[in-house]
Amino acid sequence: MSELTLNNGVTIPQLGFGVFQVPPEDTQGIVEDALAAGYRHIDTAAAYRNEAGVGAAIAASGLPREELFITTKLRNGDQGRAQEAFQLSRKELGLDYVDLYLIHWPVPSQGLYVQAWKEMERLYENKQIRAIGVSNFLSEHLDTLLEAAETVPAVNQIEVHPSYQQAELAAKCRSLGIAVEAYSPLGQGGDLNGNAVTAVAQAHNASPAQVILAWHLAAGTIVIPKSADPTRLRENFAATSLKLSDDELASITALESGARIGSDPAVAAFTQL
Ligand code: NDP
Repeated sequence: MSELTLNNGVTIPQLGFGVFQVPPEDTQGIVEDALAAGYRHIDTAAAYRNEAGVGAAIAASGLPREELFITTKLRNGDQGRAQEAFQLSRKELGLDYVDLYLIHWPVPSQGLYVQAWKEMERLYENKQIRAIGVSNFLSEHLDTLLEAAETVPAVNQIEVHPSYQQAELAAKCRSLGIAVEAYSPLGQGGDLNGNAVTAVAQAHNASPAQVILAWHLAAGTIVIPKSADPTRLRENFAATSLKLSDDELASITALESGARIGSDPAVAAFTQL
């Protein structure tokens, strides 16, 4: 499994497994399937309400803790009490430390993300988190954060898939040493059926999902596809061995259409999350 080195020297498996919209009661079984398939990087969030299932799967796996990379995220409604919220997440996961902790959304209308970051910096200093980062941060949110931050975020987890690539934001992140992590990397399945993707898939006897994941990996992006299906999650994991030509990569990049799936982080609030 290819690993990337974050800006503080911590390594992260480039392909991980996301559990957004996995029901809490199904999470342990699905994450056990993912670990059995070879995934060692799991992406959850307090807002997904399934951290306990992730933790149960980790405990049941018997895998050494240091072989795993576990990400969770600060709920929007908890930005004013990040330390307390982190401890709750850590307990739900049943872990002594978390590998990566992210501010889930900036929620600029709340005006709390800088305060949350400062609390996260303390947790990072105390070694309860190996790396801290952000999610859904646009350029202006990064600028505001960096003015006050002692620690540059290790990661910005943002919506990236062929039809919505946020190339300018991704380039800015990389220029600041912030790794780009693609959420909804398959466009929640919506990017799988295009002609360009199908043509490349047929040329390699691969699946459309593998083609899109190989495109992300070739760009140096961290990628966290979700599948609740044991066959599909294995298929996705196998994308690490698929290498596309420059022309094939360019044909996927040409699919940009500006079609966002998620909410606009400039206005999204979700403070109930
Ligand atoms: P994805 O782009 O990963 O797509 C998931 C969908 O694609 C599911 O419907 C899944 O169906 C389907 N799928 C997966 N693999 C295949 C395959 N090989 N063939 C056909 N269909 C497939 O979307 P997500 O939104 O789930 O994003 C992934 C992760 O990113 C999340 O789980 C979460 O961890 C993170 N995320 C973070 C956000 C944030 O705000 N920070 C927002 C959204 C996501 P099935 O399950 O039936 O296989």
